[in-house]
Amino acid sequence: MDKMNSRFDGPPGQEDMPYLLTPGPLTTSRSVKATMLADWGSRDIEFRRVVAEIRQGLLDLAGCDGSYECVIMQGSGTFAIEAALGSFCPRADAKTLVIANGAYGDRAAAILARLGRPVAKIDKGDSAAPSAEEVAAALDADATISHVWVIHCETTSGIVNPIAEIAHAAKARGKLVMVDAMSSFGALPLDMKDGYDVMVSSSNKCIEGVPGFSYVLVKRDMLVASKGMSHSVVLDLYEQWKGLEANGQFRFTPPTHALVAFHQAMKEHAEEGGVPARGGRYRRNADILIRGMRAMGFATLLSDNEAGPIIQTFLTPRDPNFDFEQFYEELRRRGFAIYPGKLTKRPSFRIGTIGKVDEKVMTGVLKAIAEVLAEMRVTDLSPLEG
Ligand SMILES: *Cc1c(COP(=O)(O)O)cnc(C)c1O
Repeated sequence: MDKMNSRFDGPPGQEDMPYLLTPGPLTTSRSVKATMLADWGSRDIEFRRVVAEIRQGLLDLAGCDGSYECVIMQGSGTFAIEAALGSFCPRADAKTLVIANGAYGDRAAAILARLGRPVAKIDKGDSAAPSAEEVAAALDADATISHVWVIHCETTSGIVNPIAEIAHAAKARGKLVMVDAMSSFGALPLDMKDGYDVMVSSSNKCIEGVPGFSYVLVKRDMLVASKGMSHSVVLDLYEQWKGLEANGQFRFTPPTHALVAFHQAMKEHAEEGGVPARGGRYRRNADILIRGMRAMGFATLLSDNEAGPIIQTFLTPRDPNFDFEQFYEELRRRGFAIYPGKLTKRPSFRIGTIGKVDEKVMTGVLKAIAEVLAEMRVTDLSPLEG
């Protein structure tokens, strides 16, 4: 068999593991994986140093001045989201505006509703970006809105939202701005000083670590004011911060391997050239993929100026021979794991362009797709609907 995976970066005996062309977990470097071949004590001085360096490194990467804190939370990205919403969003008398254009916006609004916190929503469907003007109009129409929740890259479609303009409009009206930069941080520029009070992201996206924890960057005065606000003992960011500050330790068992791997991943992120280089590699991945897919006849959901470099959404072809399950399995067999679509309206599938993957991998997946289409006898690649 043609071994696409000959530059395989994993442990011996797993050479048939596919590249993860998904929005996380994603393909990581061998050196990141190698750090996990050790057992770290969570109270060791060395481990506490690793945690302290991660926290400071994240603050630096986000352009934070001395007025911000970094709180790490065990669990996937949604744990940090629920922690932030529960710690900082008003319980009564004021409201959080969620700007939604996909599943992650819907989820944030659902969490607030479950917590019984007042919520308003701008819903753009799942393939249109909100504008700063719309947000300004919503804020002007409802003076009870005090907090704004916005998503940087909505991974549902891959669309990149104009968060800087939105933050500017919100700050001009005295609102607190909270951003879900889960799938963009480390690849797309973000400077907390541009008007962001809170930012959440996680270990297994553009920094190229493994899953296991998430983190919140937040203005210290907002964190201090959140004492007693959380609905949850585990997700209480103030208490988590107090614990980390007191002795550099977590209140509850930390994912030691994931933290040590992330420490290495941050080092590799800096060595690659930081955000411009990481974002540049992903942009090249995305350009090669989109160009190749269009040359075959596929249509993208988004126009080129909307689609970010994180994940690309392709519309399901109308050809009756196209079967996504078979398509997925055949690509998986050739060394590439892609992702089903998550859109509510249009049938689609997604291919992630992040992780430790490069132009060679993108060329490889394009070749595999052409082979699989020929095998499935798919010829009409025009979209199923629309
Ligand atoms: C990945 C992601 C999340 C978090 O998802 P988890 O499955 O909890 O890690 C949240 N928001 C966005 C935009 C994401 O891409």
